[in-house]
Amino acid sequence: MSFDSLGLSKPLLDAVAAQGYDTPSPIQAKAIPVILEGKDIMAAAQTGTGKTAGFTLPLLELLSRGKKVRANQVRALVLTPTRELAAQVGESVTTYGKNMALSSTVVFGGVKINPQMQKLRRGADVLVATPGRLLDLYQQNAFRFQQLEVIVFDEADRMLDMGFIHDIKKILALLPKQRQTLMFSATFSNEIRTLAKSLVNNPVEVSV
Ligand code: AMP
Repeated sequence: MSFDSLGLSKPLLDAVAAQGYDTPSPIQAKAIPVILEGKDIMAAAQTGTGKTAGFTLPLLELLSRGKKVRANQVRALVLTPTRELAAQVGESVTTYGKNMALSSTVVFGGVKINPQMQKLRRGADVLVATPGRLLDLYQQNAFRFQQLEVIVFDEADRMLDMGFIHDIKKILALLPKQRQTLMFSATFSNEIRTLAKSLVNNPVEVSV
C-alpha cells in the first residue's frame, strides 16, 4: 500500500514524502478514502497511530477542491480538548498543507483574544480550536459558520472526560446541518456513542 493510491493530489503527496513517510499507517489507509468520499466517520485510534494525518490529509484535499473562504468565515473546524493538542494539529495542518494555498489558524484560551480576532477577519480554511475559546470568539462575532463544510472532533473521549459536553452542544447548535463530521476517539464508550448520535450522520466506523 502506498500513499499514491489513496486519492490525494500531488501537493499533499509531496508534503507527505518530504516528511519521510512511505506507507500510510492502518488508520490512514482506512480513514482517508472514506473521508474523501464525503462520508461521516467514527474512527477509533489512539495517539501515535498517525490519526492526525489520517484526518488532516483528506481534509486539506477536500478543501482544495472547494470555494475560497470569505472574510470571517471558516470552512473546516477541528476541535481539540487541549491547547497542546490544538497547537500540534495546527502544526500538522501547516506541514501537510505547505504546498497549498489554504489558510489555517489555531485558537485556544489562556492567551489574548484580540490577536485571534484579527486573524479570523480574513477567514480561515481550517480553524483549530479548543471549545471554550471558540465559543468566546463566536460570541464576539469573530467568525461565522455559513461556509462550514467539515467538522473534526479530535480525541472526543478526552473532550467528554474534561467536561466539554455543554460547550460541544452549544457549538453543534451553531453548525449548518449539511456538513461532513469526522469523529476521532481513542475508544468508543457508550457515552461517546450517545454523543455521536447527535453529531454524525450514517457514519462509517473504522478502528485500528
Ligand atoms: P499521531 O498519531 O497523529 O499523533 O502521529 C504520530 C506520529 O507518527 C507523528 O509524529 C507523525 O509525524 C508520524 N506519522 C504519521 N503518519 C505516518 C506515516 N504514514 N509514516 C510514518 N510516520 C507517520
